[in-house]
Amino acid sequence: GVGKQEVDREVHSVCPYCGVGCQITYKIKDDRILYVDGREGPANLGRLCVKGRFGFDYVSSPQRLTKPLIRRDGIAKDAIADLDPANPLTHFREATWEEALDRAAAGLRAIRDADGGKALAGFGSAKGSNEEAYLFQKLVRTGFGSNNVDHCTRLCHASSVAALMETVGSGAVSAPFNDAEKADVILVIGANPTVNHPVAASFFKNAAKRGAKLIIIDPRGTAMRRYATWMVQHRPGSDVALINSMLQVIVAEGLVDRQYVEGYTEGYAALAESLGDFTPEAMAAISGVEPETVREVARAFATAKSAIIFWGMGLSQHIHGTDNARALISLALMTGQVGRPGTGLHPLRGQNNVQGASDAGLIPMVFPDYQPVSDPAVRARFEAMWGTELDPEPGLTVVEITDAVHRGVIRGMYIMGENPAMSDPNVSHARAALAKLDHLVVQDLFLTETAAFADVVLPASAWPEKDGTVTNTNRQVQRGRKALPLPGEARQDLWIIQEMARRLGLDWHYDGPAEAFAEMRRAMPSIAGISWERLERESCVTYPCHAEDEPGEAVIFTEGFPTKSGRGRFVPTAMVPPDERPDRDFPLVLTTGRVLEHWHTGAMTRRTRVLDAVEPEAAVEISPSDLERFGIDPGDRVRVVTRRGAIELRARFDSSLPEGMIFIPFCYAEAAANILTNDALDPFGKIAEVKYCAVRLEPATAG
Ligand code: SF4
Repeated sequence: GVGKQEVDREVHSVCPYCGVGCQITYKIKDDRILYVDGREGPANLGRLCVKGRFGFDYVSSPQRLTKPLIRRDGIAKDAIADLDPANPLTHFREATWEEALDRAAAGLRAIRDADGGKALAGFGSAKGSNEEAYLFQKLVRTGFGSNNVDHCTRLCHASSVAALMETVGSGAVSAPFNDAEKADVILVIGANPTVNHPVAASFFKNAAKRGAKLIIIDPRGTAMRRYATWMVQHRPGSDVALINSMLQVIVAEGLVDRQYVEGYTEGYAALAESLGDFTPEAMAAISGVEPETVREVARAFATAKSAIIFWGMGLSQHIHGTDNARALISLALMTGQVGRPGTGLHPLRGQNNVQGASDAGLIPMVFPDYQPVSDPAVRARFEAMWGTELDPEPGLTVVEITDAVHRGVIRGMYIMGENPAMSDPNVSHARAALAKLDHLVVQDLFLTETAAFADVVLPASAWPEKDGTVTNTNRQVQRGRKALPLPGEARQDLWIIQEMARRLGLDWHYDGPAEAFAEMRRAMPSIAGISWERLERESCVTYPCHAEDEPGEAVIFTEGFPTKSGRGRFVPTAMVPPDERPDRDFPLVLTTGRVLEHWHTGAMTRRTRVLDAVEPEAAVEISPSDLERFGIDPGDRVRVVTRRGAIELRARFDSSLPEGMIFIPFCYAEAAANILTNDALDPFGKIAEVKYCAVRLEPATAG
């Protein structure tokens, strides 16, 4: 154990992993973090999970990039397999910042000047600060001259946001997850919070212990089922069938909150009419759920004094992801379970700053604060503020950018802190696109799988090395503070972005994050009341917050909705089957996700000693009956094959999985799950169906 007396400094910050946004204190001696404590933040009340507590030593990994790198002449970009991240000098040479920045910017500038701004694209990061996200999107929009800027929100809740914007006029949560403690009924659907939002899960469990009814809906039986009143395991991909059958019950049994529907919504009649065929009996053949169970959970939700909905990637990452969210929103609206304490709609945001990065404008269709780029009045305002003409056309999204690279339309990219060579669906296709780029600049902590394709690699700053704000899933803006010096010649991301901007012809002078934040307040009405000084003082302020003397609104939609009519809109949904269904050649369904110990593509947690020691190796989780059916023993190495590729990894027994479905986490580079996944897109949110594709199992070819 480490005694408190050994610490010589403490720095208050926020956990860099998930969207819960736990407040932490770094305990530091001799410029090294000795340990991390939980602080009494409004989201976590002192609690932390294993990632927040132990996941800090990635910052001092020997694999940190400490010098700018330039690709050696004649080294092809299609050979990441033989590149060792611990020894980049086989493929790259070290360079000065001056040379690296000049080279990085000159390559982008040449493409822009020859083919225009639409030949370039940028991926920002949900791991950086709000200020970095804001300046990055501003660089793309004003320096490249197009709206081709996106980030990993596209891979997580883009469909939820599309549905929320369309129906209730705001893409963020309507209430904090902590409101579960005020709810009589808690519905968790397509989410596995004990793994992905562990501290939020502790609030759900506590609520269940004090008597709230917990309804869990997921094809896979999650660990939280021990606390659940109902664990409903529907067939993967049958979400609309199941939710619509709940809506049908509520309408047929007269459980609709008439007063709420009349007072605050529109489009109810068309929705009710669309539900006629969705009886629980008719849908049982599709969802596999007993009609009586559907009735029970529908009644429990509709008749509760207060009921709140949480959903995650299990719902959003489908080609029908937007429809899934629309149906859930209809459930809340028709029962009036929104706008009061203990009610609401809460898409559990994944990354620590995916909410903030989206708010700050790392989205191709909207400027900061979700203001459409296609709206002339909005554009005029941003043109006046940023002093340049702006592209009226929405930009391309993550997967569309990959396709545009393959078509030769996009030739250059700037990627800050994202790892599409691991995170993108059908990742071989995405890697081929990265290899095809004429010019790629990557700014990151490590030589990630993506950086392996770069022409220039810029060594960046880790979260404990910088000042900045992040926004969690509860819409709470919180301050992170610099606790450690930068290693070697690594630099602040804010500095790197500005140096790039200057070389693209922009005359920027932001003297630190406070100045960038001050400009954001002017661009974004929702945070107008949040000043840097106030964040320093209060450590957490919830938006929307329009004036400095306002506390910020934890629960929104109390008096209608920020839509044109002021009403929430019902949008009927139809059943769309998954894009690629099992058949004779590929008889199983593959679903992907995270594990408790590892974060997303593993860039940080796989370089954290404690976490990688607990879960060092990729495994495919298989139900007992499928293990038997295919003659596999737990621990055997197997080959998992889809139409897009194959990986080999160990088999693991998992009794929570239904027969016919296997699970692979996407964090292991040596067995990258996204080699297998399908890149078919939801037409509205442009999110890929990484939660569902057809696979088969074979014996492994190697040891
Ligand atoms: Fe960090 Fe999320 Fe764990 Fe909290 S719950 S400690 S924010 S990873």
